[in-house]
Amino acid sequence: MTTSQRRRSRITGTLAAVAMAAALTPLVPAEADGGLGPAPGADRADSVRAEVRGGRVRNVLLFVGDGMGDSEITLARNYQHGAGGRLTLDRLPLTGSLTTHSVVKGDPGHPEYVTDSAAGATAWAIGAKTYNGAIGVDAHGTPRPTLLELAKRRGFRTGSVTTSELQDATPAAISAHVLDRSCMGPETMRQCAPNARENGGPGSIAEQQVALRADVMMGGGAKYFDQRIAAGRFAGRTVRQQAVDTGFQVVERADQLPTLRGDQPVLGLFAAEGLDSVWTGPQARAGGTPPTRCAENTGRDARQPRLAQMTRAAIDLLDRRSRGHDRGFFLQVEGAQIDWGAHDGLPCEQIGETVQFDEAVAVGMEFARRHGDTLVIVTADHAQSTQIIPNGVPSPGMTATLVTNEGGHMTVNYATAMPGEAQEHTGAQVRVAGYGPQAANIVGLNDNTDLFHILTRAMGVH
Ligand code: MG
Ligand code: ZN
Repeated sequence: MTTSQRRRSRITGTLAAVAMAAALTPLVPAEADGGLGPAPGADRADSVRAEVRGGRVRNVLLFVGDGMGDSEITLARNYQHGAGGRLTLDRLPLTGSLTTHSVVKGDPGHPEYVTDSAAGATAWAIGAKTYNGAIGVDAHGTPRPTLLELAKRRGFRTGSVTTSELQDATPAAISAHVLDRSCMGPETMRQCAPNARENGGPGSIAEQQVALRADVMMGGGAKYFDQRIAAGRFAGRTVRQQAVDTGFQVVERADQLPTLRGDQPVLGLFAAEGLDSVWTGPQARAGGTPPTRCAENTGRDARQPRLAQMTRAAIDLLDRRSRGHDRGFFLQVEGAQIDWGAHDGLPCEQIGETVQFDEAVAVGMEFARRHGDTLVIVTADHAQSTQIIPNGVPSPGMTATLVTNEGGHMTVNYATAMPGEAQEHTGAQVRVAGYGPQAANIVGLNDNTDLFHILTRAMGVH
């Protein structure tokens, strides 16, 4: 199934929840903002200069909002904090932009101007442009070592946290090498025959993740770990059984997160597929919706952790395990479903996922402020379909109008696909923001592959 088909199939299930959302009470009051920084017109040269720091990087926290382009950031900021408010990710002191295009398979000289999440994440994972669908392989399908693997080899503790399946494109690209993103488990290897165990390859994304033994991987995707291995020592067993037999600690509920101990690799499997979204609300439609508030997703499985909880648990564990060692840790944290909400024309899902991503960024920033040798990067893999358009203006796309926390009406338009179809990614550059030593290297316009070089340099693993 293509991503597009998968995301489209999610639309039907959300309609009942959407119908209810309009009747629910406002979600959260606009938060006290805490000031917008220096007074208008103040000379900021000294404060910016103070943030430009070189020096040693012990820990790297890489935050990725999937499909979190500038429109998507603005949507969430307007709704939650008001047009004049700020998200936590807006407060990182140094910013630049990343170009995100991918390339034609087998022909890296020819651009595809709109990337998917696989090529987008592979770009910073291996430092090379690749084709849409590629996981940790270059445009010719050749595996190249990833940021996480290079860090691990050089003694860093490593981790990956996501709200989607652990085998989904963004977490897969830093932890596996397959020809196509669909090869998530040993029973879904149709597009990746050369990678399959039975053909002498390293196996599916899930199998490679178990072989990699990062210190901590948390998210969804349990169903791929429950697929059976086709060949080799663990033939006939599931990937999960292999993980347990080789010493992984598997956790399945948020309340187990504080109990993580020892030195075993931790595998957090909190859902069969992606985690439940935290908010719900109207689906955009032709002709628009009445002005509506977003609501908590009351159907969400409360045993699942929020992204900020997983992030805190992962940082605690990685920090503990690296204490007393020369090297710190590398952790990638993904807010995956910002993208999913946009594909489905569900602005409240998008905003809720951006807000919970921003909470995770706050956890990371809190750690970084206490540990001055921590580099924090916040970016996205690609822009999405969301546009904020004038109220009351007819649109050829699908629209929904939201009532923001500050009481404004905000009309959100999606018009990158035919009605009833999943919305598509877009090709605009995305924001990259940084804090900490060597964060200044992200200033200006960079390519997404540059992030690989910036981070390997920062960790001294280039
Ligand atoms: Mg993703
Ligand atoms: Zn997408």
